[in-house]
Amino acid sequence: MNDITRPIPFLDLKAQQVRIAADLKPRIDAVLAHCQFVLGPEVVELEQKLAAFCGAAHCVSVSSGTDALQIAMMAEEIGRGDAVFLPAFTYTATAEVPLVLGATPVFVDIDPHTFQIDPSHLRARIEEVKAAGKLRPRAVIGVDLFGQPADWPQLRAIAEEFGLFTLDDCAQAFGAIHHGVRLGAAADATATSFFPSKPFGAYGDGGALFTDSDERAALYRSLRTHGEGAARYEVLRTGMNGRLDTLQAAVLLSKLTVFEEELDARARIAAVYDSRLGNAVTTPARVPNSVSAWAIYAILLKDGESRDRMQAGLKAAGVPSAIYYPRPLHHQPAYASAHDGTPLPISEDISTRIMALPLHPDLTHHDIDRICTAVLANC
Ligand SMILES: *Cc1c(COP(=O)(O)O)cnc(C)c1O
Repeated sequence: MNDITRPIPFLDLKAQQVRIAADLKPRIDAVLAHCQFVLGPEVVELEQKLAAFCGAAHCVSVSSGTDALQIAMMAEEIGRGDAVFLPAFTYTATAEVPLVLGATPVFVDIDPHTFQIDPSHLRARIEEVKAAGKLRPRAVIGVDLFGQPADWPQLRAIAEEFGLFTLDDCAQAFGAIHHGVRLGAAADATATSFFPSKPFGAYGDGGALFTDSDERAALYRSLRTHGEGAARYEVLRTGMNGRLDTLQAAVLLSKLTVFEEELDARARIAAVYDSRLGNAVTTPARVPNSVSAWAIYAILLKDGESRDRMQAGLKAAGVPSAIYYPRPLHHQPAYASAHDGTPLPISEDISTRIMALPLHPDLTHHDIDRICTAVLANC
């Protein structure tokens, strides 16, 4: 296969592995030598480095991004009768966690340009729930969708007004900057994911919680180890098995050495897409005062038919694409019965015509050129 028709990978973890190999292998060997596979020294080192990296007082590593969300909600004792406000246009885990805990997700619509949760609709939804008097408004999960920050100053102001806990679902945006600082302390707690395809991914599942609260950090540490107290085998609360593996911490320590360069590379590629494609398709609007982590570069097509045509044309040219997300969560079979029926027209419309292009730090100039040429040829 010549280079012109070679399929471009949507994500290239092999190329990244080659880049970090000299640092990665000794770190993995060190874990194999000490055999502390759970809560080993690499886990402690990673937590210290990540807290410093994003400016939060505490980092508590956990077994996945989903478990990070769950532990944060469990620490607030959120459950039956509680309303948890979250965007309808996000990954399934954001809504799954309140439901698993017996709480009710209340879906909020998004901004049509940035795709982030719409603060004015959040306020309207909180007021609706209060007026209906059936559920207790308890928490807001803001999602930093595709790597850009949600409107945290506004979300926090609304949450404070109604006395709600704020949880930042930062699974796609670890490393992003908002108002000059990295995400990690924008909400009462911040949850991130180290799933391999995220901008800061491990070689398996993993996640972390960040908070400035000493009490919350202590609860998170207890909850990730079955609700254990200070004494071993003393169980203070119902928790879970939610720890990060030492081997994954070693991988992440290695990836942290190149993470800022990778964020810069992602931003440079996004800027090339903007300038090459901006006249032909709707390229991503930027959240003001922010630097995205560019988990996903999503363009908008005119309608679903144009998207089908574009995806088929790209595929024929060896260019992969993906749809995040083809259905808003209130239309998912598993969640529809939890929804109060409010139309969420922006989420419904965007899901029919959004499409993501490959964006990872190991895309070559040649790949980027092929991708842009293929998009322009199929408009
Ligand atoms: C990936 C993701 C999660 C879940 O993270 P896992 O580590 O896969 O459990 C949660 N929320 C959002 C927005 C995500 O993209």
